[in-house]
Amino acid sequence: AELREGYERFDPRAYLRNNYLPPRADFSSEEFVVPWKLRCLADTFASGEIRGQTLIDVGSGPTIYQLLSACDHFEEIVATDYLAVNREELGRWVRGDPGAFDWSPFIQHVCKIEGRGEPWQDKERRLRDRLRRILPIDVHRPDPLGAPLDPPADALLSAFCLEAVSPDRAAFARALLHVGSLLRPGGHALLLGALGESFYLAGPARLPVVP
Ligand code: SAH
Repeated sequence: AELREGYERFDPRAYLRNNYLPPRADFSSEEFVVPWKLRCLADTFASGEIRGQTLIDVGSGPTIYQLLSACDHFEEIVATDYLAVNREELGRWVRGDPGAFDWSPFIQHVCKIEGRGEPWQDKERRLRDRLRRILPIDVHRPDPLGAPLDPPADALLSAFCLEAVSPDRAAFARALLHVGSLLRPGGHALLLGALGESFYLAGPARLPVVP
């Protein structure tokens, strides 16, 4: 209940400012957290082994950086979040509305590290085309989407979510089990997070993290 209350104060713009603008979004060195995350994802998808029809991203928040390398390998990307404000922020980017967050430095950086010489606008278009569903989710429910994903996803990605929405490690493990029901048997599950993190900020919200 405390966590749910905390998330009622989650401010997407403040979260984006804290985590996805300078100084954290400094692309000059992989010592910085943002280029590190993008490198993890680029390396993970580089082999081409993780691919299929559908990838579901659990707890997307207001961000799309985590989908930039993934989107080349799946026909459809399903984004999800617990908060309507985050789903609305994502919708603004997909539609290219004025006032949407500017992810272009991230897209340019990913094209650079993938090293295929792809114009960044092509990747931007591909992700917008493939990101057709933005669904509500609650990882604490055995049926996180309220209905099974049909067909189940070929891959599941979750970045900085399960540990940031669970009160303790047991709840984290249950949440992992719940989201596993969205994945087909033999599919890939990819978790991206930071070890030892105990809290993060999203404007007036200070959210605890299972370290
Ligand atoms: N994946 C993004 C956002 C992580 S922040 C990134 O990498 O930056 C954690 C996200 O979990 C927030 O967007 C929050 O709204 C969402 N969240 C909060 N409670 C949740 C729940 N019960 N189930 C699923 N997602 C939840």
